[in-house]
Amino acid sequence: MKKRQAIWEDIKNTASCDVLILGGGVNGAGLLRDLALQGVNAILVDKGDFTAGASSKSSRMIHGGLRYLENAEFKLVTEAVNERNRLLRFAPHFVFPLRTTIPIKSWLSGLIKSPMVFFGLPVTPGGRGALIVKMGLTFYDLISGKRRRTPRHYFTLKAKSLQTIPGLREDIVCTATYWDAWVSQIERLCVDMIDQGCRENSTCAALNYVTAAKADRDAITLSDQVTGESCTIKPKLVVNATGAWIDLTNHTLGFDSHLMGGTKGSHLVVDNTALYDALGDRMVYYEHADGRICITFRFMGKVIVGSTDMRVDDPDQAACEDDEIDYMMTTLKGVFPGINLSHDDIVFTFCGVRPLPSSGLDYTSRVPRSHRLDVAEPDEQRSFPIYSMIGGKLTTFRAFAEQATDTILAELGKSRAASTEEMAYRGADDYPASQDERQAWIQRVAGANDLKEQRVADLLERYGTQAESFAQITDEPWRTPLQSLPDYTVGEIERIAQEECVHHLSDLVRRRSVITMLGQADETALTELAGIAGAVLGWDEARCSEEVKLAREEATDRK
Ligand SMILES: Cc1cc2nc3c(=O)[nH]c(=O)nc-3n(C[C@H](O)[C@H](O)[C@H](O)COP(=O)(O)OP(=O)(O)OC[C@H]3O[C@@H](n4cnc5c(N)ncnc54)[C@H](O)[C@@H]3O)c2cc1C
Repeated sequence: MKKRQAIWEDIKNTASCDVLILGGGVNGAGLLRDLALQGVNAILVDKGDFTAGASSKSSRMIHGGLRYLENAEFKLVTEAVNERNRLLRFAPHFVFPLRTTIPIKSWLSGLIKSPMVFFGLPVTPGGRGALIVKMGLTFYDLISGKRRRTPRHYFTLKAKSLQTIPGLREDIVCTATYWDAWVSQIERLCVDMIDQGCRENSTCAALNYVTAAKADRDAITLSDQVTGESCTIKPKLVVNATGAWIDLTNHTLGFDSHLMGGTKGSHLVVDNTALYDALGDRMVYYEHADGRICITFRFMGKVIVGSTDMRVDDPDQAACEDDEIDYMMTTLKGVFPGINLSHDDIVFTFCGVRPLPSSGLDYTSRVPRSHRLDVAEPDEQRSFPIYSMIGGKLTTFRAFAEQATDTILAELGKSRAASTEEMAYRGADDYPASQDERQAWIQRVAGANDLKEQRVADLLERYGTQAESFAQITDEPWRTPLQSLPDYTVGEIERIAQEECVHHLSDLVRRRSVITMLGQADETALTELAGIAGAVLGWDEARCSEEVKLAREEATDRK
């Protein structure tokens, strides 16, 4: 990526563009990449940092959405399973299969309730017994069909289940196990997509910390919060990919919409060895007494626990409240009564707002999770249409971007030049296909570059096979580990700060890496990181201190 100032200069000098994308979450980033590949001149801006919204605050499951079958969302589940399989294949450095186990308390319950939910009758979902789960999983396996990249489901009786998962509640009759997937670093995948789009098509640009407002009939004013400068741009069309902020953004653009009905979801990251060991390679997917589905799985040495589902009006104010933490701890203790868990185990708490469409439904879990493109046609006040990307999942961003791109190409009178269906993400080329191959890759690269195997493994985890080019750098900063976080090197942090549009320290620790998420953003680490990033970004001592304070606040504000 070009340096931030150079990108802003490019944008300032652009009088017009084909498409102006507002929002740099997974949907905006995926769209920029797809449009760029078609030769469309697209500019993306985000009012905050890239992926500052739901995309970095989700449960990180790459899944078909087993529970959406109960809501009869077959089209979504089929599309999501196909996209999950594609991500497993084309982003194998970030997306991994996830064995998923459901503890089940009865054989037959739910036989009346689940069909009622299925037919849209007003009952709270919940109480799903083994037979209902079996029906769902059989269908789930069928959808995967020949393109399956994961094993089929199986059931395990109580005694064996309790033996395999220590600490699990004992009032179960059996467990059901199936496979989905999870994504380790969606933030890096988004930045990679933005970078790929801008590299492949030099007429494209993307910048964070830029706000947009309607200027005139055919123009938008863009304001850079970093330099304080503004410019106007005339787009042929605008895409509003601002997730939960869609209605607020449309209001800023001069018209009122009532498209969104977001719900917030909070998660905990916990450090508890007994839970970590009990989970092993599996996610436990469990139902609370209120019928809500919760999840817990290993995340890069810690454990993620989630999530809640509550309506919110202002996405900027959404934060995890004390009662949500208590709810998640209580449900977790309910499913793992044999494990000692305490609030002191929590190392990080975060909260995101699902960009769900507005609906009059009482139960938030029944709001459709599918996506759609809504268009506000030009009118007397505005010469360009505004397309709003509503809803969707992390899992389905590529398909949504493809559908939006096709609509936009038709509007621009262009045709598709390249498909993203079978396109590998950066770092996926020649990625080792098995654990043995992975180990051989690490040994080869470590041996060839005089590095420890653990260092190469860390680089592979963060950058896929692009790690090899970083391993080859012998400059001193690239060989100097951080004192506070020795699995990073000075050179690596300098590169991210300089080349990935980092403006605040929190961008670096929260959205270019998982340092904050893993509870590592303490004062000492942040001070060291601010010194390194600040040296390349020109921060003086006062700015470094301010950045440490801001990053610390962001690590503890439960947003
Ligand atoms: C708690 C939770 C759990 C979830 N779990 C999963 C899951 O396990 N699997 C899954 O597939 N999906 C999951 N999702 C859904 C998924 O995260 C979202 O559907 C997806 O991230 C939406 O992406 P987006 O780009 O539309 O929105 P966002 O990621 O929210 O991005 C919107 C961007 O727009 C920017 N913005 C806002 N206003 C403006 C403006 N006026 N101008 C410019 N930019 C602006 C914001 O800063 C933000 O960066 C979950 C979501 C939540 C909240």
